[in-house]
Amino acid sequence: MNDVTQFTRADWQARAAALRFRNEIWIDGRAVPAASGARFESVNPASGAVLTDVARGGAEDIDRAVASARRAFEDGRWSRKTPAERKEVLLRLAALIRENVPELALLDSLDMGKLVKDAATIDAPGSAHFFQWHAEAIDKLYDEIAPTGGRDLAMIRRVPLGVIGAVVPWNFPLDMATWKLAPALATGNSVVLKPAEQSPLSALRLAELAAEAGLPDGVLNVVPGFGEDAGQALGRHADVDCLVFTGSTAVGKMFQRYAGESNMKQVWLETGGKSPNLIFPDADLDAAADMAAFGIFFNQGEVCSANSRMLVHASIAEEMIERMAARAAQAQPGDPLDPASAMGPLVDRKHADTVMGFIASGKQAGRLVCGGERIARDASDAYVQPTIFTDLRPDARVVREEIFGPVLTIQTFKTEDEALAMANDSPYALAASVWTRDLGRALSVSDRLNAGTVSVNTVDALSAMTPFGGMKQSGFGRDLSIHSFDKYSALKTTWIKY
Ligand code: NAD
Repeated sequence: MNDVTQFTRADWQARAAALRFRNEIWIDGRAVPAASGARFESVNPASGAVLTDVARGGAEDIDRAVASARRAFEDGRWSRKTPAERKEVLLRLAALIRENVPELALLDSLDMGKLVKDAATIDAPGSAHFFQWHAEAIDKLYDEIAPTGGRDLAMIRRVPLGVIGAVVPWNFPLDMATWKLAPALATGNSVVLKPAEQSPLSALRLAELAAEAGLPDGVLNVVPGFGEDAGQALGRHADVDCLVFTGSTAVGKMFQRYAGESNMKQVWLETGGKSPNLIFPDADLDAAADMAAFGIFFNQGEVCSANSRMLVHASIAEEMIERMAARAAQAQPGDPLDPASAMGPLVDRKHADTVMGFIASGKQAGRLVCGGERIARDASDAYVQPTIFTDLRPDARVVREEIFGPVLTIQTFKTEDEALAMANDSPYALAASVWTRDLGRALSVSDRLNAGTVSVNTVDALSAMTPFGGMKQSGFGRDLSIHSFDKYSALKTTWIKY
């Protein structure tokens, strides 16, 4: 039986008990220990149990991985394959991901606490889809000939950059890695991937599947380890051509500094968010409430584009607050392996402490509508209730700062201009949502919102076909879509006189 939607908690538990964890560094097509011999524990936040210990990569391991990636790039074993040949390998990888959805989903769920049903129906199939999409696109991109006229032929071609360093977060471990790897590999680059220390397991399995699909050794290397050592070493490495990052704004700024202080490598950043969700009185309020709840409670609110700020017209504020409190009551966390659970634990106790700190500050700055407590469950202290605040000061920390947890603030506005001023009053500009039945208002408000993506009458609209990324301190550069190839290639002109 392979229909993951029919799996029971007992089915998932049985599969979890039978899992084998890949826990070494992956360099040059082989699993190797860290040069230092150091290891770190991978802990299941739902139970506090240690899953396995993982090789802790450091600067020496990053060096070896970059050297392996460089060799692979220079000898052309992948970089000089035709786009159609690369496509075939990546399509096989997509197929292997599909065959291994339950295992990949479990790895992410156990490693960082997301619901396994979501990992099995969204994250893992999404990863297969994104590999397939970029693979299928790569042999359909044409290069250019400049209109020079005369006895000149000026060809403008996209060429791969060389060695890409990719540093990714723990909230969608498999998908955030895939968003970088699929376009980077399709364009012919070699990659050194550093997964987050909280969630290295799916990336290590993915590397093995890529080898099985026929990706040559050295083209994809995965170095698990901590940010300040492995991450920083990659960011500062003199032989890395481009560093792509998804994570917090604070660390994104560090990568800009690392690049400036080393070899001026290209840096592309997908960073934090504090996305507003504007509800006008003519909206379908039930649909808006359903999607707003998804927008903040999906993945425990650990989503960069989470709709963490609801801005609602004063005339419907009380109705919306009631609706949201009812939705929050249905979003209580439970065992991530239980298909009946609505949320899992946060990624670890440390992050739960941070979120509880925000909640404590919210209690001082406004009115707690619901939630606001930690939940003790099994041996874990990483569970936090879905929480809603209103009547907040505009300068409250819960309104201004990214919480990255299941915490929603609700503020009211009286006019469209006021709504826009509040929405745009943020250092972030990743995503936004607008709810209205008035098409003219939907378009004019969308135009004036600072955001990489504006969703109208939905939240967090996203697909392989559309670019994803932010403005302001949410970063720059785009993942997904044809435009993602821009980050992984340079335009090269070859001018021939004849
Ligand atoms: P983080 O910035 O702490 O860590 C992200 C990665 O950076 C990890 O691999 C980590 O090991 C590494 N890192 C940490 N410190 C480092 C350092 N000093 N030098 C080099 N590397 C370092 O972020 P996180 O807590 O893992 O993830 C949450 C953040 O990610 C949130 O801010 C969220 O908004 C953001 N995020 C953004 C997007 C997007 O597309 N914009 C998507 C998902 C998550």
